[in-house]
Amino acid sequence: MAFTADSLTFDVLSPATGAVVGTFPSHTADDVAATVERARSAAVWWAGLSFAQRAKGLARWRSEIVRGTDELVELINSEMGKPVSDAKLELAMALEHLAWGGKNAAKVLGPRSVPSSLLTINQAASVEFPPLGVVGVIGPWNYPVFTPLSSLSFALAAGNAVVFKPSEFTPGVGAWLVAAFQRAVPEHPVLQVVTGGAETGAALCRSGVDKIGFTGSTATGKKVMAACSESLTPVLMECGGKDALIVDADADIEAAADAAVWGGLSNAGQTCLAVERVYVHEAVYDAFVTEVVKRAKAIRAGTDNGSKIGPITMPSQVDVILRHVTDALERGGRALIGGLDTIDRQFVQPTILVDVPEDSLAVTEETFGPTLTVAKVADMDEAIDRVNASRYGLGATVFSRARGVEIARRLRVGGVAINAFVAYATIPSLPLGGVGQSGFGRVHGPEGLKEFTYAKAISRQRFPSPLALTTFARTERTDAIAGALVKLLHGRN
Ligand code: NAD
Repeated sequence: MAFTADSLTFDVLSPATGAVVGTFPSHTADDVAATVERARSAAVWWAGLSFAQRAKGLARWRSEIVRGTDELVELINSEMGKPVSDAKLELAMALEHLAWGGKNAAKVLGPRSVPSSLLTINQAASVEFPPLGVVGVIGPWNYPVFTPLSSLSFALAAGNAVVFKPSEFTPGVGAWLVAAFQRAVPEHPVLQVVTGGAETGAALCRSGVDKIGFTGSTATGKKVMAACSESLTPVLMECGGKDALIVDADADIEAAADAAVWGGLSNAGQTCLAVERVYVHEAVYDAFVTEVVKRAKAIRAGTDNGSKIGPITMPSQVDVILRHVTDALERGGRALIGGLDTIDRQFVQPTILVDVPEDSLAVTEETFGPTLTVAKVADMDEAIDRVNASRYGLGATVFSRARGVEIARRLRVGGVAINAFVAYATIPSLPLGGVGQSGFGRVHGPEGLKEFTYAKAISRQRFPSPLALTTFARTERTDAIAGALVKLLHGRN
């Protein structure tokens, strides 16, 4: 991405060739304010529709995306370099969640009765989840459809209007998605796009929207929270990770190696949930490493048909990868394949590192490249301790025939896939999100829908209470009965 001379627009550069593949407006704070203003009245209209009417609009959006798949995947490829077949996979996963959100919003968010208590027996009680109003969504470039749609689908299904700021590396993909929505729901600007870099994002944080759904790096997340704190604007934080894969002594080694290689190298490692570290039981370590190296040797970064991964999208990320690999090698690590010599401009070849100290950058910081560290552990307790030592806590993968669930429960992360990579993120009814420096709040599933609403409690008095407590007309007798009741209900344990 490069700002043009007048700063009113910016160019998107192909990570593969450096050629300009698009030019977009760099929206100012005034532009953002005007967009949010338009969204206000659209939000009222959209919230006034029934869940079923909104679900129909979202279903039409799905069809628009499917009809435009070829165009959209080409756009993803040209803006961020992902192979077209991987881009199609990304779309398929995003559509699953969009469908689930539309279909389940009424059940999850609609009014439902809840029981009252003995002391409030005269009250009928219900809870419902109205939309917040206008939501701002700030997205990354690495999954330019799946990731923003995780917020957009659920915010829209819950009845909010949305102003979306896609990454400055993939504004064309963002604009395409919004145009498709506007064809599906043409009546009002329920979903709009603003384009630009950090300043446009910061303006959206300060625009008075009712919530920001942020997905991006932990460092930027902190800036977004700081800006939102000025107006007490709530935030959803989907941030970075340093996910691990654990291999137990009884694991299916071939399947574990396959998952490690796909999980670590696909999308050139530029995945928030990518496998970046592997901990392997000493009994199967050698066999596992042999399998991983065999598989990783077959993967190559490039742009031709034979290459399975593309370039590193952000030029600055290549420096991060170089720094992490250099640090690992200088501190006793070995590259079984790949390494410093195989980094050529924005093309980074798969790199498998062993013997890397646990406090080196390649183990502690998000690398976001096609690299894996593989370490030997004495048992699963040691593996769990090492996974939980990270300040991040997004996801994890466990390969174990007998103890998968037990190990999963002891990991301090938002999601665990047992004997498969990342499956929890593809199951529409499961929530997705992290703990620690990976963020908070959830997209997907019922929790993802509730994230863009507020819980509204309604009580309705059915008949006057036989025990009138909240009145100055309360008598000593009432106090005595209430006191006895409290003792009976709570004092006998
Ligand atoms: P980034 O933090 O550089 O940018 C994310 C978005 O924030 C972009 O749209 C950017 O323009 C905007 N932004 C930058 N500065 C801002 C500011 N001061 N105020 C408001 N907005 C600002 O992240 P990225 O490089 O686009 O994406 C990669 C990161 O995203 C990785 O760390 C990855 O792990 C994370 N990620 C997390 C998830 C998840 O679900 N947890 C999913 C995908 C990516």
